[in-house]
Amino acid sequence: MGRMSEIDGMGTERATCVLAPNPSMMTLDGTNTWIIAEPGAGEAVVVDPGPKDARHLKRVVETVAAQGRRVGLVLLTHGHPDHAAGAARFAEMASAAAAGSRVNVRAMDPKHRLGDEGLVEGDVVTTGGLELRIMETPGHTHDSLTFWLPADGAVLTGDTVLGYGTTVLEGRLGDYLSSLDRLRAFSADAGAATILPGHGPKLDDPLAALDHYIDHRRERLAQVEAAVAGGARTAREVVEIVYADVDPALWPAAEWSVQSQLDYLDERR
Ligand SMILES: [Zn+2]
Repeated sequence: MGRMSEIDGMGTERATCVLAPNPSMMTLDGTNTWIIAEPGAGEAVVVDPGPKDARHLKRVVETVAAQGRRVGLVLLTHGHPDHAAGAARFAEMASAAAAGSRVNVRAMDPKHRLGDEGLVEGDVVTTGGLELRIMETPGHTHDSLTFWLPADGAVLTGDTVLGYGTTVLEGRLGDYLSSLDRLRAFSADAGAATILPGHGPKLDDPLAALDHYIDHRRERLAQVEAAVAGGARTAREVVEIVYADVDPALWPAAEWSVQSQLDYLDERR
């Protein structure tokens, strides 16, 4: 578990990771909960409180308190339970710790919000003097967001880009490829220094990481195209050919990805 100690506590000047104890094949080492605060500020933003795990949520509240801060706001990169299920409970705990001042949860999807404010493309979060810019990057899910922390050159990608491995697509591949291309161009333009992902270690070469992701998707797409040309009809049949070298336990997840690849190829036909 060497990697766990490398992930828990990692970050940048303004961002600190608290690793949730929910490791699995899909969540890698566990969910990365991010505490973000401007130096000297009394308020922090918490990104993705994580699963509804009382000990983890308490540890996040305590880590913020140990910084001499209180939680001002909670943001969600997307609505998956390993990121969002603990958000409402966390907001309650954080409100109590902040002497009752109400802590809201902002997310793109209304059903994950607490309070009136959503989160959309172009929003700028300024809690505690921070500057966090919101980008819509659909593909992993329809509601996937990326947060840009310009002061640290950090890109918080949620599950759109992970610290290692590749993400499962529930949304449309076309959307995902556009999101990756956009993040690639944005990171080059803005001079991004690091990716802070929703799972796995941070990535200190954003362009290399994004190129790797983009190449991987294009390669898989070419393989799927070849499998279809070779007679594979269903997503399952494609998976058995393209993912032959991958642990069959991952095939059901791969089937999701392949289905979105087949849809993408259909759309372009
Ligand atoms: Zn997810």
